[in-house]
Amino acid sequence: MPSTAAAAASPSSAPLTPPASLAFLGLGIMGVPMAKRLLGAGFKVTVWNRTPGPGSDALAAAGATVAPSAAAALASADITFAMLADPAAARAVVAQAVDGAAGKAAGGWGYVDVSTVDAATARAVGTAIHAAGGRFLEAPVSGSKAPAEGGQLIFLAAGDADLYERAGPALDAMGKARFLLGEGTPGAGARMKLAVNALMGTMAVALGEALAVGEAAGLDTKALVEVVGLGAVAAPMFALKGPGMAAPAPRSYPPAFPLKHQAKDLRLYEALAREVGVATPLGDAAGAVFAAAEAEGLGEDDFVAVREVCGE
Ligand code: NAP
Repeated sequence: MPSTAAAAASPSSAPLTPPASLAFLGLGIMGVPMAKRLLGAGFKVTVWNRTPGPGSDALAAAGATVAPSAAAALASADITFAMLADPAAARAVVAQAVDGAAGKAAGGWGYVDVSTVDAATARAVGTAIHAAGGRFLEAPVSGSKAPAEGGQLIFLAAGDADLYERAGPALDAMGKARFLLGEGTPGAGARMKLAVNALMGTMAVALGEALAVGEAAGLDTKALVEVVGLGAVAAPMFALKGPGMAAPAPRSYPPAFPLKHQAKDLRLYEALAREVGVATPLGDAAGAVFAAAEAEGLGEDDFVAVREVCGE
């Protein structure tokens, strides 16, 4: 018969169902709709953002409790989700959040980082959580603002398999598919996400370049996008973003996936490729175009604003 302490220390993989308590750290373009999905599913949700403002206000109006710190949010929850800008933010926030673990039963709580980071950062966040007595899962997402609003994200998870099971109902409230890509050591989720996003970045540059050449050659760029959509190179991304990229200047790019994050993902992908010894001439070229777009002040626009520097 296990003692109470031993029972408390053994991690549970029983799915955590509403109205269990969750926390959400990082209330940007993705964090707000994802936390709203959790509220909509009936979970009790405590939220925190570095900068209080529209994100926290919108979630408070939807029924969330706003915490004064990342640590207070983590302290209130069985499972905490983090959706943060980049590796530096993911590392900074977990360092603050673990202060909320004092008094929590070892193994009885979890932390799921859904930010897009590199494998080393995912492992460092996992190490911090394990040292504080929690279970850890990396679970970056494929899908953007609209899929987040509609609960149609795809989670690319790796880490503690028991937490993957335990967080299942919450992940399913936010997404349409989830993959456990690695058990124990995190990193495969980050790497999968970077491979997918590098493809998206190169596709955006390829379309931007074709449109720049087409425009300079006197072609009807709207027709060019239509032709692309009817052939073998058709892609949902081209169908969604192509018309805006092909519109006459001046074009506007309201952010769903900010260009600064796509530029970050290409940098992380290039680092991954170097680490594994693979040449990536296409990724490098796309990364340079995104860097030029950022240098032109387009970082806060949607990533397809890269079209503005294609052909320069
Ligand atoms: P976002 O709107 O720029 O939000 C970024 C969040 O990170 C904000 O809550 C921001 O807080 C927080 N943050 C940044 N630096 C921080 C720091 N040092 N300490 C604490 N908090 C910090 O970004 P997003 O579009 O939601 O994306 C979030 C993550 O998901 C990124 O890794 C991105 O690559 C990835 N992603 C995005 C999409 C998409 O379509 N948007 C899709 C898939 C994955 P403040 O408000 O205080 O700045």
